[in-house]
Amino acid sequence: MTKSRGRGPTIAKDINRRLVYQLIKQKRITSRVEVANELKLNKNTVNSIVDEMLAHDFIIERGPQETQTAGRKPIIIHFNASKKWAIGIQLTSTVIHWTVTDLHAKPIHSFSVPLQACTTEHAVLAIEAGVRELLRTYPIDSCIGMGIGVPGLMNAETGTIIRSSHLNWNNIPFLKLLSDKICLPMQLDNSVKLASLGEAWHGLGQGVSNFVYCYFGNGVGCSIMMNNMILRGDVNAAGELGHIVTEPGGELCGCGNRGCLETSISLPAIMKRLKPYSVSATHQAPLDAMEWIAAELKQGSSPVVEKLDQVGEQIGQALSYVTNLLNPKLIICDGPLMEVSDYLFPIIEKQLKARSVSSTVDKLQLARSELFPLASCIGAAANVIQAWEEVLIAFD
Ligand SMILES: [Zn+2]
Repeated sequence: MTKSRGRGPTIAKDINRRLVYQLIKQKRITSRVEVANELKLNKNTVNSIVDEMLAHDFIIERGPQETQTAGRKPIIIHFNASKKWAIGIQLTSTVIHWTVTDLHAKPIHSFSVPLQACTTEHAVLAIEAGVRELLRTYPIDSCIGMGIGVPGLMNAETGTIIRSSHLNWNNIPFLKLLSDKICLPMQLDNSVKLASLGEAWHGLGQGVSNFVYCYFGNGVGCSIMMNNMILRGDVNAAGELGHIVTEPGGELCGCGNRGCLETSISLPAIMKRLKPYSVSATHQAPLDAMEWIAAELKQGSSPVVEKLDQVGEQIGQALSYVTNLLNPKLIICDGPLMEVSDYLFPIIEKQLKARSVSSTVDKLQLARSELFPLASCIGAAANVIQAWEEVLIAFD
C-alpha cells in the first residue's frame, strides 16, 4: 500500500516525461508554453521535464519567438535528434544494407556490404565486424541499439527466424546468436514489415495512418499499416501479396500453389519469360536485369512491352483485392521493378479503378518509394528507437 502510494508521482512523471518528449520530437520546434497548452499539463511539470531534456542536450534553446502580441516572448526550443543514434540493417542472401540514423530515423550514413556466404555464421561475423567498425566512429554511450530486418517468417518477440526461403534458414535463434557477440540492445523483425515502418517514420507514409507498402523484386512482399500499426495477423504472416493467385492453373509456386502473383511478376519470373530475347547471362542480378528491361522498354521492344503490360495488369488485380479489403489511403511501391514505375503505374491504376469499389479507390494514391534501397534499414533503426522510447524513464 505504502509502496504504491510512494510510486504514484514517479509513474505520473514517467508518463509525462514520455508525453513531453514525444510532442517536442514530433513538433521539432516548439516552446514550453505550447507544450503545456497542447498536453494540458501544469507549467511547472513541463518546465521541470524540459530542464531535464536541456541538461542532457535532447533540446536546444534558440532565442525568443517572434510574436504579434505584446509581453514576454516564449523561448523557442528545438528537438536535438542527433543526441542519440541507432543502427538499422537489412540482411539479404547476398548483401547487408546498413544505415546509421538520428532519433527521427533519418539516415546519416548508409552503405552496403556483400555477404560472402548465406550462412548464419557468415552473417553473424559480418554484422559483428560492421558494428565494431561503426563504434570506431560513433560513441557507444549514445547508441540506442541495432534493428535487424530479415526476409521470412519470424517470431519477433523471441528473435527466432522460423522460416526464410530467401536465406534458406529454418528455426534459427538469430537474435540469441547476435547477442552472444554484440553487446547492444537489438530488435529483429521481418524486413518488409520494417520497410513499412521506415516509410511511416521517414518516407511517404509520414502522417498517413492507413497505407500499404509493397516490394517488387526477386520476391513480392507487402506490409499493411492500419491505424498507425503494422497488421501482423494471427502468426505474424499477414501481407502475403505474392501468393495471391492471379493466373489460376499457372506456374508452380514455392508455396505449393499454382499461379501466385510471384510466379509471374517477380524479377526471376520476368527474366525467365524474356530469356529468349535477353543476350547476357549477367541479367540475373536484379539491378542488371532492371537496367536491361528499362533499356528495352525505352526502345519499344515488343516482348518486353507485352510482358510489362501483363505485369502491370496482374499487380493491379492483386492490389484491387487489397484495396477492397483494407481501404488504404496510399499504396507505396518499392523494389527494383519500380525502375519502370512510370510505365507500370497507369496500367496498375486502370486495373485498380476497374476492379475496386469506387469508394475505396477514388482517393487512393499510388506512389513509388523514395527510400530505395534503404526503407527496411531505416525501419529497422526506427524499430529499435521506438522500443527505447516506449520505456524512456530518464534522459541520460
Ligand atoms: Zn505462392
